[in-house]
Parts: sequence; structure tokens; C-alpha cells
Amino acid sequence: MTRALILAPHPDDGEFSSGGTISKMSKEGTEFWYAAFSPCTKSVPKGFEKDVLYQELERAAGHLGIPPERIKTFQFPVRDFPEHRQPILEEMIKLRSSINPDTVFMPNSKDVHQDHHVIYEEGVRAFKNCNMLGYELPWNSFHFSNDFFVKLNMDHLDDKWRAIQEYKSQAFRQYSDRALFDGLARVRGSKVNTEYAEAFELIRWIV
Ligand SMILES: [Zn+2]
Repeated sequence: MTRALILAPHPDDGEFSSGGTISKMSKEGTEFWYAAFSPCTKSVPKGFEKDVLYQELERAAGHLGIPPERIKTFQFPVRDFPEHRQPILEEMIKLRSSINPDTVFMPNSKDVHQDHHVIYEEGVRAFKNCNMLGYELPWNSFHFSNDFFVKLNMDHLDDKWRAIQEYKSQAFRQYSDRALFDGLARVRGSKVNTEYAEAFELIRWIV
């Protein structure tokens, strides 16, 4: 993995699903880029600035080895991605040309959130000649095909938690919980005889 791109419908999706993997692979030399498609203005709690999620994303990505110049942000309205399918695809095609990633992380094929589903469907169109991995957000998927594993250690999970904690505007969410992420990493690790791991749906892999 030389150059990887995270497609995040909303700013925190990449960190919650793949934060340990980004930390590990960044340290091993992968150049990660992060594309977030909505500032989720409609969902920002009272008392926070309207673009707070993009400010938090910049700080979170720093813990995972992604500098601000490798973050691309867009202004699509949260929950309404299905109405913006074609412009989203066109932005992805521009990302493909400008970044030229070998591997793309995106929501998995069984994610039921409408915005996530659009990013998956347009993602496989735009990046069909790249390696593609579908990431896991347990509360969004009835089924998840765990095919591809990245072994992690506690340092990677510490970085993931530091990144998640930057999302102070989302701290009220029940899933913003370290025990949940460490527990899931332990379960995924147990499938491949290691202590911790993150798992991905293998959408496409080209050697
Ligand atoms: Zn999301």
C-alpha cells in the first residue's frame, strides 16, 4: 500500500472504522489522503460552530499521520447524498486523477445509512481499477463480510482513540466509546490469531 484514500461520507467515519489501520500503515510509509463529503451542518449540536466537524477532522487526522494538505472536504448536505449522486461521482473522479491512490477505503456494501450507501456505490464506480476495502461501522450494518485483516497493537489503538476524542461535538454519541473499539479490535484479532485487528470487506484487490 503506497498511496491510500479514505472516503468518509461524514468526517469521523474513517477514524471510527479504520483509525488503527491508518495509524499503523502511516507509520509504515503509506501516504494517506482523507476525503470527507459533508460538514454535517444540520447535525452539529448547539454551542458549536457550524464547520466544527471539519476543524475536528483536521486535528483527528493529525494523530493518524495525515497532514492538513492531504484532507479534501466537500459541502454535500448530510442525509441527502442520494439526491447528489452524480456530483459526488464527479468529485470522486477528480480525486482519482489528482491523488492516484492504489487503495481506497470506503463504507462496506451492506452499510444501510443512505449517505454511506451512496459513497459505496459511487466509490466502486470511480475507483474500480484500484484496490478497494469496505470498512466496518457495526451500528450501520446488519451484515459485514470480514475478509481482510490488519493486525494492530495497543499503540495503534491509542492513536485511534486520540483521534476520536478530537470529535468533541460528537462525544454524546453512544458509540464514541473506547471499550467498544478495543473490544471489536479484540474480536477481529481473535479471528486471525492476534490480539487486536481491524477487519474490512474485500471489495477488490489487484496484484
Ligand atoms: Zn457517517
